[in-house]
Amino acid sequence: MDLYDVRSEFSEDELMVQEAVGRFVDEQAIPVMREAFEKHEFPRQLIPMVAELGLLGSSIEGYDCPGLNAICYGLICQELERGDSGLRSFVSVQSSLVMFPIHAFGSEEQKQRWLPAMARAEAIGCFGLTEPQGGSDPSNMKTHARRDGDDWIINGSKMWITNGNIADVAIVWATTDEGVRGFIVETDAPGFAAQEIENKFSLRASVTSALFLDNVRVPNESMLPEARGLKAPLSCLTQARYGITWGVIGAAQACLDEVLRYTEDRILFNRPLNHTQTIQIRMADMARRITTAQLLSLQLGRLKDRGKLNPTQVSLAKWNNCRAALDIARDARDILGGSGISAEYVPIRHALNLESVITYEGTETIHQLVVGKELTGVNAFG
Ligand SMILES: Cc1cc2nc3c(=O)[nH]c(=O)nc-3n(C[C@H](O)[C@H](O)[C@H](O)COP(=O)(O)OP(=O)(O)OC[C@H]3O[C@@H](n4cnc5c(N)ncnc54)[C@H](O)[C@@H]3O)c2cc1C
Repeated sequence: MDLYDVRSEFSEDELMVQEAVGRFVDEQAIPVMREAFEKHEFPRQLIPMVAELGLLGSSIEGYDCPGLNAICYGLICQELERGDSGLRSFVSVQSSLVMFPIHAFGSEEQKQRWLPAMARAEAIGCFGLTEPQGGSDPSNMKTHARRDGDDWIINGSKMWITNGNIADVAIVWATTDEGVRGFIVETDAPGFAAQEIENKFSLRASVTSALFLDNVRVPNESMLPEARGLKAPLSCLTQARYGITWGVIGAAQACLDEVLRYTEDRILFNRPLNHTQTIQIRMADMARRITTAQLLSLQLGRLKDRGKLNPTQVSLAKWNNCRAALDIARDARDILGGSGISAEYVPIRHALNLESVITYEGTETIHQLVVGKELTGVNAFG
């Protein structure tokens, strides 16, 4: 389903990446995602396959990473999230929130030590920015690191951390006497604990954790030397949010696909449901929103590949595309009637997942306020 022939905008290489990831999602991921969601566990058996396909740190050049362009990264996210937002979240965090900051802000030793291992999934990472007192305002950070000789001692806690309990390393953001700094903390360090958040009704096929740091001692070499101030973690979020704008298109496409098939076979009032005007209008509206989202992400990708991407553009697309995907998933759920609440069909799972995706990496309101600030020059957050 590609009403505007967006595919014709992709190069041969980009289409090859999309097809390879799409095949993996159809053959390996989709068959296990529903059960993983129901069991509330991440399908860890997929990790080696994801690594084998080169999807971890795919945009990084060197360090055993493939150095793919931004469109490829977007298509990877789109295909993965067509399977499940939890699978895309795993790859987003490892690639954009852990490997990206090590590559952008790390020392050569840090890059050599971690990036090839992370590309092979021999080391899994998580990204600890959000704290219990409020993720929308990271400037109110309480986690603190103080110098002790050649070491740093970190105290604090982080909340809602994807991959927390399966991570070997955490990128921990903390306030210091020099402002906000980032640390690579190995999760077996004394004083570090991760506690899985149980009973989520969203992103159930993804591990989400609280992190606790109680006098965790790390050597100075664990600090990311080039990450100074809050703009460092925020720049990681720009990378990840860019991928989200593409990812949610995949979830929306899966929902539209489901209703197209369902309404063909469902006979009501002596005719297939897809012969009904209002049903067609609702599906046409889904296609309109998916097409708009595709074109936004495509242009974002081009800007990114030209080095011209700015955070406001990403905010607008994260807001638009998440809202579109969530509304499509909810409406698809309704078009399926009672069947729509069954996990036999994908919309309910995608709708529940998208409740997280529209919230994490900046809530819808936060992205609206970012765009508002760009338009007016006035910061309305406070
Ligand atoms: C499944 C999941 C995975 C996550 N993974 C990670 C991760 O890996 N790493 C990480 O660091 N974080 C992660 N997060 C955290 C996520 O980024 C935060 O949940 C998000 O930023 C919102 O923060 P909060 O939950 O504390 O809500 P709050 O900041 O408390 O916001 C509550 C409400 O207030 C609104 N609000 C806030 N400020 C304003 C304002 N100025 N004006 C009007 N309304 C406002 C918000 O839009 C929201 O509706 C994850 C979250 C979830 C749910």
